[in-house]
Amino acid sequence: MTAVTVRVPAKVNLQLAVGPAREDGYHDLVNVFHAVSLFDEVTVTAARPCAEWSLVRLTVDGQPGGDTTGVPRDATNLAARAAHRLAAETGAGTPVNIQLSKRIPVAGGMAGGSADAAGALVACNMLWGTGIDHDDLLALAAELGSDVAFPLVGGTAVGTGRGEILTPVSSPGRYHWVFALSSVGLSTADVFAEYDRLRPHAPEPSGDTALMSALASAEAHALGETLSNDLEPAALSLRPDLRATLEAGREAGALAAVVSGSGPTCAFLARDGAGAARVAAALRESRHCERAVTAHGDVPGATVVRGS
Ligand code: ATP
Repeated sequence: MTAVTVRVPAKVNLQLAVGPAREDGYHDLVNVFHAVSLFDEVTVTAARPCAEWSLVRLTVDGQPGGDTTGVPRDATNLAARAAHRLAAETGAGTPVNIQLSKRIPVAGGMAGGSADAAGALVACNMLWGTGIDHDDLLALAAELGSDVAFPLVGGTAVGTGRGEILTPVSSPGRYHWVFALSSVGLSTADVFAEYDRLRPHAPEPSGDTALMSALASAEAHALGETLSNDLEPAALSLRPDLRATLEAGREAGALAAVVSGSGPTCAFLARDGAGAARVAAALRESRHCERAVTAHGDVPGATVVRGS
């Protein structure tokens, strides 16, 4: 095998409950991840080593509608870090080109960098034939970042701890989403710092049983009533303009509107596919949204789409 392409999904949080800052600076979370059909593609190809790089050469491009501004082109890229980590762990690394084809918004609260890291883990693992199994990959992913394990499994899952301890949730419904994208990202660290400032005595986070019942019912209305994000006030404090974006989507008929993760992407749950198209069109026409895309969820995690 000389080339592997893996497709990896973005996530939206159905619930994001954030506890107080821990000694190590992280926060305990109850993070209900939901994988949606906005995908990056990660292609890993066997390469010849050269003087400038030893293990990973990285290239980044945008799929139609994808913006790559702000994506690091060096070893700090999460996909490159994932490949280096897997090589160090297994001793199996040989030189590779990693090509990222991005559609997931950058610094948009949809975990695009983590998705790329997950894709690189799966592709390099296959290309290098390391022999390590899915559970070992999940453990490596969790070490790389709080959001890296989820795109390996996809679907809907509850993340506890820093968000990296995953418990899959059965979600029989198919939900239609609209995402309002912003060209200027929000730093996750800045949003958590603002959260600590606004809510210095946050309680321990706990799961929402109403959300679990809504998911079991497969009813979009019921799900809409239970979406929640503790980071939303912090994201809105840093980006007050997002209030108008959320309102524009509600006025256009969205069942629910919520900031996605640490923002600035705003997520809108629609009644059905036609409803999502209407909300997206209304957002595009409003003055309060730079770009709107539709997607559905949940979808599977990292999937090999080509291998040769
Ligand atoms: P999360 O939802 O996990 O908090 P996010 O969706 O807000 O993350 P990302 O798109 O993952 O944000 O990017 C956050 C930062 O990570 C970027 O500003 C960029 O500097 C860096 N980064 C590293 N690798 C990547 C990558 N492969 N794609 C995008 N950004 C990356």
